[in-house]
Amino acid sequence: GAALKDRPVCVAGLGVSGPPVARVLLAHGARVSVVDAREDDATLETARRLRAEGARVLLGEHTLPEGTDLVVTSPGWRPDAPLLVQAGEAGIEVIGDVELAWRLRPAGQRWLAVTGTNGKTTTVRMLEAMLRADGRDAVAVGNVGTPVVEAALPGESDPAPALLAVELSSFQLHWSSTIAPHAAAVLNVAPDHLDWHGGLEPYALAKGRIYAPGTLRVANADDPWSSHLAETAGDPGTPLHGFTLATPRAGQLGVVEDLLVDRAFVADPHSGAEELAGLADVVPAAPHNVANALAAAALARSVGAAPAAVRAGLAAFAPEPHRMARLGSVAGVDYVDDSKATNPHAAAAALSAFASVVWVAGGLLKGAEVEDLVREAAPRLRAAVLMGRDREPLREALARYAPGAEVVEIGALGDDAMPEVVAAAAGLARPGDTVLLAPAAASMDMFTDYKDRGRRFAAAVAARG
Ligand code: ADP
Repeated sequence: GAALKDRPVCVAGLGVSGPPVARVLLAHGARVSVVDAREDDATLETARRLRAEGARVLLGEHTLPEGTDLVVTSPGWRPDAPLLVQAGEAGIEVIGDVELAWRLRPAGQRWLAVTGTNGKTTTVRMLEAMLRADGRDAVAVGNVGTPVVEAALPGESDPAPALLAVELSSFQLHWSSTIAPHAAAVLNVAPDHLDWHGGLEPYALAKGRIYAPGTLRVANADDPWSSHLAETAGDPGTPLHGFTLATPRAGQLGVVEDLLVDRAFVADPHSGAEELAGLADVVPAAPHNVANALAAAALARSVGAAPAAVRAGLAAFAPEPHRMARLGSVAGVDYVDDSKATNPHAAAAALSAFASVVWVAGGLLKGAEVEDLVREAAPRLRAAVLMGRDREPLREALARYAPGAEVVEIGALGDDAMPEVVAAAAGLARPGDTVLLAPAAASMDMFTDYKDRGRRFAAAVAARG
C-alpha cells in the first residue's frame, strides 16, 4: 500500500467498481482523480459524495488528467477507449479493480478464482458455502455482492478474510497482470463479449490469464477451450485436475452413477476415490450446474476442505435470482426466469433442461452467432417469442432449423413491452409446456439490466396467474 502514498492515480469510470476503488485509493493516501463521460443525475450524486471524501471528479471529459502515473479502469471500459489508449501511449500503467485488490491484499490471504463464459457467480457462491461448511473464514466476491476491493481488505472493525472465492470476468483478467490465485478454474468458453475483445481467441486467452505461475489448475475436461487453456496458458509445474460429467479418471473429479466423486484430492488417485455428494444435492438440477458444483468442489478440496463440507455446502447453497428460477404454473404451463442467460451458451444450457418450450429470446447479441443454439434446441421448441433489437439472426435461424416452431415478434423496445411478450408466449403454450425466458442476449436495448428484465417477466407472469 505504501507505494500509493501521494501518487496521482486516475480512476476511469464511475460505475460499479469506480467508487469503492476511489475510496480504497484515498485510504492509502493516493491523489485520486475520477473520470467519467456521463453527467446524469445518479453520476452527479456519486461525484458529489466522492468529492466530499477528497477525490477530484471530472465529468463529461475523456482525457487523462495531467500528471497521472497509474490508471485503475472500470472493467467495462473497452481497451480502445481514448483515455486508456492515451495512457498506453504515454507508458502509464493501466490496471483493473481486481489487480488493485490483489496488490493491496494482506499477507497470507489466498484466492480461489473462477472464470468462464457461464456459471461464475453460481460456482463462487457454491464454493463459499462449501468453505464455510468446513469452518473457514471465506468470502465470495464478484458480480453479486461485495466488490472485490472491499472484500479483500481489512475493514474498520473486521480483519480481511483468509480465503476469497473470486469471480473474474474476462475484462477483469484483461486488466490484471500479477494476480496469482492459489487455485483457479476456467469453467467453459463460448462466444460472448466478442465485440469487446475482438474475437473468440482473444476472449479465451484473457480467461487463460487466470492460470498464473504457481496456480493449481482446475479445468473442465468436457470443454475443449478450458482444457486447452489449462495446458498451454497455465504453469506446467502445478497440478492439473479436470472435472467431468462422465466417470472420472485418476486425477479428476466426476460423476459415478448418482454421486459426485473425487479422484484428485485423495491419497492415491489410482486406487482411491472420495464420495462428495449426491446429484440430488445440486440445485437447480441440470447438467451444467453439476459441472459448476464439481468445479467448486475441486477448488474447495484444493485447500483441504473435507468431503462432507462439499455436501453440506451444496445443501446450504441457494441459487441467485434469475438463474433458472421457477415462477410457478398458470393454466398448466410452467414459467421459468433464466434472464441471466445473456449469451447463447447459457441459453442452450437452460433450453436443454425442458422437453417442450415456448422460448422467449432476443436483445443484444454482442456479436455472437445463434445458429448452433437454435439447431440444437429445435426439437424442444414449440414456439418462440422474439423481442429486442437483434431479432433478425434469431428469426433466420428459427426459419432454417426449427421450421415447425411458430414465431411471434414483438417490435416495441420500451421496457413496458414485457406484458405483451408474456401474453404472446401464453397464447402459444399448451399444457405441459414451459415458457422459458432465456434470451441468449444482453438486455440493455430494452431494460436497465438482466435483473430488471427478469423482474418484469415475473411481474407479467404473476399478473396472469
Ligand atoms: P455468470 O456469473 O458466469 O454469468 P451465473 O452463475 O450467473 O454465471 O449463470 C449465468 C447463466 O448461465 C444463467 O442463465 C445460468 O442458468 C447459466 N449457466 C450457469 N452455469 C452454466 C454452465 N456451467 N454452463 C452453461 N450455462 C450455465
